[in-house]
This record gives sequence, structure tokens and C-alpha cells, in this order.
Amino acid sequence: MSLYDVIVVGAGPGGCTAATYLAMKGHKVLIIEKDTYPKFKIGESLLPFSMEVFKETGFYDVLSSGKYIQKNGAYFFDSVTSENIYFDFADNGNAEFPHAYEVPRTEFDKDLLAYAQTKGVEVKQPEEFVGCEMNTAGVIVTTNKGTYRGKYIVDASGRGSCVTHKFQTKIKHAAYINNFAVYAHFEGVDRSYLKSEGDISVGILKNQAWSWAIPFKGAVTSVGIVSTKDFVVEMNESESFFDKRVADNPFFAHIMRGTKRVGPFMISSNFSYASEQFCGERWGSVGDAMSFLDPVFSSGVHVSLMSAKYLSQNIDYSLRNGEIGLNDPANVNKFEELMKTGVNRFHHLLQIFYSGDFINKVRKIEKNPNMHSAMVAAVSGGMWRDTNSLMRYGVL
Ligand SMILES: Cc1cc2nc3c(=O)[nH]c(=O)nc-3n(C[C@H](O)[C@H](O)[C@H](O)COP(=O)(O)OP(=O)(O)OC[C@H]3O[C@@H](n4cnc5c(N)ncnc54)[C@H](O)[C@@H]3O)c2cc1C
Repeated sequence: MSLYDVIVVGAGPGGCTAATYLAMKGHKVLIIEKDTYPKFKIGESLLPFSMEVFKETGFYDVLSSGKYIQKNGAYFFDSVTSENIYFDFADNGNAEFPHAYEVPRTEFDKDLLAYAQTKGVEVKQPEEFVGCEMNTAGVIVTTNKGTYRGKYIVDASGRGSCVTHKFQTKIKHAAYINNFAVYAHFEGVDRSYLKSEGDISVGILKNQAWSWAIPFKGAVTSVGIVSTKDFVVEMNESESFFDKRVADNPFFAHIMRGTKRVGPFMISSNFSYASEQFCGERWGSVGDAMSFLDPVFSSGVHVSLMSAKYLSQNIDYSLRNGEIGLNDPANVNKFEELMKTGVNRFHHLLQIFYSGDFINKVRKIEKNPNMHSAMVAAVSGGMWRDTNSLMRYGVL
């Protein structure tokens, strides 16, 4: 049985990025992914501050090669009050990160995994993690096809948190944003109102619902509606639920007029939770396996990438310093503390959104001239920047 420095479970953005960082530091890394790619996943709109991670790993060259549409801003419209606001990412005060990209995940995850392999990451796919045991020397991982030994394990398995669950870390759900989403891909969604073609639109709809429209390169746009559990729908009701929400909201109905659905409706539910612990002695979790927030600010992939970056720094330090625990106080990078800080700031932004009248609240905050770029930076994912005025004044 060969020994890996790190075994990563899951080849989403979190797993691929953690593996890439670690392989670039010279460590022997294995990714175990249960599904074959390409695979449909949700989480298609990236944030500008994620570009920092991609520039560090080098994946930015793939992302910016012309295959993916550039996202220059986020347009929020309120179907109830008819107000709208545009967050132009060029105003986020960080000239290095003035835009992001919209990415069909079938392509994006495949590209990320292929890129990790170019950096020396070994991949077992399709192969399913079924369990692991830890001892003082490391971790023994069992899959449906074999057994592997590692010094550390990274849970990047997404919302199933398959490794973290084995250690019985409690998962909490934030009840007040316990929503569900219905979504599909469409052709012909109107883009003429957008400042630039790749901008995301978020619609604040009646009955505590909101919508997204994420344009991809070419004709396809991802469109989804998020609603409270009071309106739970079964799979066979998703189309009528979706159509009714579109019809009830004039601007949304306008951009959806004459569209053609090109994929099945999908449903996701039970989002918003955090593990009590983000890492232990021999394990750490990243991305959705660690924490997940309501997706209105497209924070999911960004949190996955930032956790991959900071956890891989912890692991690298541990490997170079006598294999100390990832949660050892001597570990210079306080992974869990860092992650909780950023995630909590997103949480506060969500509280502002869900407490209603979001657009006017933003306008009020932005009356202070320092706050405009701070607000755009927050919406761009700059939650780990202590220089942001919103954070210094305790708004986030
Ligand atoms: C409705 C909705 C809309 C969203 N919109 C956005 C958005 O616009 N922008 C954004 O940034 N985020 C969005 N998200 C969040 C985004 O989907 C996730 O945060 C992101 O995909 C998490 O990445 P990850 O790498 O942590 O996990 P994942 O991408 O889920 O990857 C986990 C991988 O682990 C594998 N795996 C699972 N179990 C095992 C096992 N036992 N053995 C081996 N492999 C395993 C899975 O097959 C999968 O490939 C949205 C989420 C929802 C629900």
C-alpha cells in the first residue's frame, strides 16, 4: 500500500484546488472522486476575489483562455419595488480582481481536475470513499475499490461531508435561511438589459423568493428560483412552481419570454449549515463539506477555494514541521479561525439581504462615500480583507 502525504476526497473546486496547492509544494497527493466527469453540478457564477486563488495556482490561464464568459458585475432588481442596483466589480477597490467568470460546471470541474493532474496530483475516478480510520501515524482510507494510506485527509466531498460525518462532527442548519431551489438551463433568455453580457442578475421576487440568471458563453443561461420551505415542491411540480414564479414577477417574465428549456429541472434543498469543527489532528474539511451558505451572493465556490488555500497552508506547515496536528496551536495558519471569520461575514451580508428592502439598505450604507467600494468588495468576495471599511465599522 503506497503512502500519500494527503488524500483528498472529492474533485470539486475545493478538492482540486487543495490538491493543486499541495502538489505544487512538492507533496504526494491523491484525489478520490466517485463520479465520472463531465458531471452536472450547480454553482456556476464565480466571484472576482477567487481570481487571486486561480492566479496563485496558475489555473487562471485556463479560465481566462476565452472558453468562459467574463462576469463584470451583479445586477439586482426588485420585482416588488421596481428598484435595481448594479455592483460593478471594477469599483471593488482591488484593481487586480475587476471581474470573474460564469462557468458551466460540467466543463469547469473537468478543467480543474485535469489541471491538478498536470501539477502531479494522482486521481482515482470513479472510486468511492466508504470509510477511514485514523491513528497517530495517519489515516487509512477505504474505497469501493481499495485501501490507501495517507498522512492527512481532506474532506472535499461537498454537502454529503462523507469524511467529516465519520468523525461525528455536528452539522447545524441555520433555520432562518433553510431554503430550496428549482433551476434549469434555458436558451433565449434576454441579455439586452445587462451592462455586460456575462453579468449575473438576481431578482428579488414576491413571497420571499429570489431568482438568478447566469449567462454562459453562447446561447445558454442558467436560471433558478430560491424560495422558503413554506412552498416545498415535489419534483413533478417543479415546472409549474417555476412558471408561476416567473409569471408573478413582470421583469422576470419579460426576460424569460420566448425561452426554451434545454435541460431538466433540478431541485436542491437544505442549504445553510456549518460543521462545528473545520479540522482535527489528521483531517480538515473544505468547501461545502465544511460549511454552506444560501447562494444569493454566489459565495459557495469562493468559500471552497479560500478554504482549500488556507487548509493546504496548514497541511504544508504540518508536513514540514514533524507532522503536527492540523489543529495544533503551533500551526502558524489558524485555518478554522480564518474560515469562520470570512464565512461569518458572508452570513452578515445574507442577514442584510434576508431582512428585506435590500437595495435601499445598500443605498443607505453607501451614503458614506467610503462604503461604496467596500460594499462592492464584499459582493466580490473580499471577506478575508480586514481593510474593508464595512468590516472595520462592524457592518459585516
Ligand atoms: C441552488 C444553488 C445555487 C448555487 N449557486 C452558486 C453560484 O452561483 N456560485 C457559487 O460559487 N456557488 C453556488 N452554489 C454553491 C456551490 O454549488 C458549492 O458551494 C460548490 O460546488 C462547492 O464545491 P466543493 O468543491 O466544496 O464541493 P462539490 O462541488 O460538491 O464537489 C464535491 C465532490 O465530492 C464528490 N464526492 C462526494 N462523496 C464522495 C465519496 N464518498 N467518494 C468520493 N467522492 C465523493 C462528489 O462527486 C463531488 O464531485 C450554489 C448552490 C446551490 C445549492
